[in-house]
Amino acid sequence: MKIPLSRPDISQDEIKMVNKVLKTPFLSIGPMVQEFERNFAKFTGAKYAAAVSSGTAGLHLALRALNIGPGDEVITSPFSFIASANSILFQNAVPVFVDIDPVSWNIDPLKIEKAISPRTKAILPVHVFGQPCEMEAIMSIAKKHNLYVIEDACESFGAIYEDKHSGTIGDIGVFGFYPNKQITTGEGGMVITNNRELLYNVMSLRNQGRPVEGGKWLEHTQLGYNYRLDEMSAALGIAQLRRAKKILQMRQDIADLYKESIDNIEGIEILPDLPGTLRSWFVYVVKLASDVKRADVIAKLTKRGIDTGTYFPCIHLQPFYKQKFGYKEGSFPVAEQISRSTLALPFHNKLTRKEINFIADTLISILER
Ligand SMILES: *Cc1c(COP(=O)(O)O)cnc(C)c1O
Repeated sequence: MKIPLSRPDISQDEIKMVNKVLKTPFLSIGPMVQEFERNFAKFTGAKYAAAVSSGTAGLHLALRALNIGPGDEVITSPFSFIASANSILFQNAVPVFVDIDPVSWNIDPLKIEKAISPRTKAILPVHVFGQPCEMEAIMSIAKKHNLYVIEDACESFGAIYEDKHSGTIGDIGVFGFYPNKQITTGEGGMVITNNRELLYNVMSLRNQGRPVEGGKWLEHTQLGYNYRLDEMSAALGIAQLRRAKKILQMRQDIADLYKESIDNIEGIEILPDLPGTLRSWFVYVVKLASDVKRADVIAKLTKRGIDTGTYFPCIHLQPFYKQKFGYKEGSFPVAEQISRSTLALPFHNKLTRKEINFIADTLISILER
């Protein structure tokens, strides 16, 4: 048996939609992007949505649109995909890391205030593995210190915090649609906000700094980028979004199956359900007990055809962060401990009960002492 870590789920509807675009003269800046944005805003409950070429591009534009610039500090999590901190560096601002909570694996609100300085402009919480951050605490700190909140919701499409969709609580929220995310457009992303001025700024910046209304095609009112989403990708997104409720339920069902089959294996801890939040399953990550050698488990699973991932190496320990900021092992002990002991198991919409049973049986045979 060969079980991949991830795999996209593309139906006939997606194929039809992309084909439809290819038969029109509009491969970029056309009706599909607008429809995808409208539908995405509706799904999340945000007032406005702007499609972009990737989640990373969306994060960059969110920071740029909020005028975060050289020397400004942005508080964020060291336990994330590198793009969340890199987007801060793109603006020559400084990522200030705050350690994570050992249960949610998200930024620990109790440690945020100590990291605030006169240069702090924003908090950039990441809803890691689809688990919403403690937004009430984060928003109240932000309000008290007059900071913006940029939600990195790239892993949390479909996740709910106190009846609100992730990404709709801060000033601006960003989603990514890389093929391993809950819904995909190949490459692509979405920025959502309730602030019209911010929306217009993001729309201008993604389109080479052209004004959103009026202006001539080759007139640029500010330094912008080409961070547009093309029409084929948007069409794919529209079709994925139509199936989103079903996709999210399939992922929940698979997570439930995993829970049933591996919850009792000694040496493995599964992610808990946290009150007031609905996790949206992005990847299936488990925590190994401290006496289990992760490299051995990975090698043995690989030998039996089961792919795994080590999400995430801490951002502050990435080579160029160490070099630039002088971080060392021990800078953020909770994040480092979680990072060392986590293991991502295969997770995608089409994973079967048989495959999950095989993974569970293999884990039992590896971990039994
Ligand atoms: C996937 C991801 C991104 C970036 O999304 P891309 O579309 O790949 O650029 C940003 N932040 C987090 C936490 C992610 O998981």
